[in-house]
Amino acid sequence: MSIIDILKANASDYGIEINQDLAEKLEIYGKLLKEWNDKINLTAIKDDEGIAVKHFLDCLLVSKVADFKDGMKVIDVGTGAGFPGLVIATAYPNVNVTLLDSTGKKLKAVENMAEEMGVKNVKIVHARAEDAGKNSEFREKYDFATARAVAELRVLLEYTLPFVKVGGSFLSLKAATAKEEIDGAGNSLKTLGGKIDSINDFTLPGGDKRAIINVKKISQT
Ligand code: SAM
Repeated sequence: MSIIDILKANASDYGIEINQDLAEKLEIYGKLLKEWNDKINLTAIKDDEGIAVKHFLDCLLVSKVADFKDGMKVIDVGTGAGFPGLVIATAYPNVNVTLLDSTGKKLKAVENMAEEMGVKNVKIVHARAEDAGKNSEFREKYDFATARAVAELRVLLEYTLPFVKVGGSFLSLKAATAKEEIDGAGNSLKTLGGKIDSINDFTLPGGDKRAIINVKKISQT
């Protein structure tokens, strides 16, 4: 089975629809991801099943937690090979997604992949999150920030909440360690103006546990 066949076969169990446009673009993404991985170390997951389930489906689960509306702005902090930011941009062509990372060579690959996929609603930003968050161009300008596999929650809140508008959310894509990390993040939450809105547990096909923590920004950072 191809990456897209595996994705389609599993996504419907989660109530996620893979339309024709998304399928075509993700097919190109999967192919290029493998090609880039041969040149630079982009991601440890290299097999078709892993790309379909642990990258694409995992990232699409954010659509079960967030209501992305046309015209909204999302920033993916530490996007690496584009996860979850480039997947969100592909699924929501009318949402503007900023892909931020401190590693230039990964961003070069992401920029190339987005271009080849025909995904135009992305902006690539090469910066450290803690610096960009102080820049008025980015500060409190986003409806959502996302991050997957970048740091522990306490640190992530410092990286991401400065980007989020009051009333917006930070979506933290985590493995099953989420609850311990939340216990350790109380002080940062208070200082940065965040409040845990919900913790959403998922089990991926194959049994891996995931949690998406929705941190609402209730006051200015
Ligand atoms: N989010 C992707 C994923 O889930 O596959 C990439 C995860 S990778 C393990 C972590 C990424 O975060 C790397 O690309 C790294 O360059 C980036 N990163 C780590 N600290 C950062 C910071 N302070 N500012 C911006 N990017 C950062």
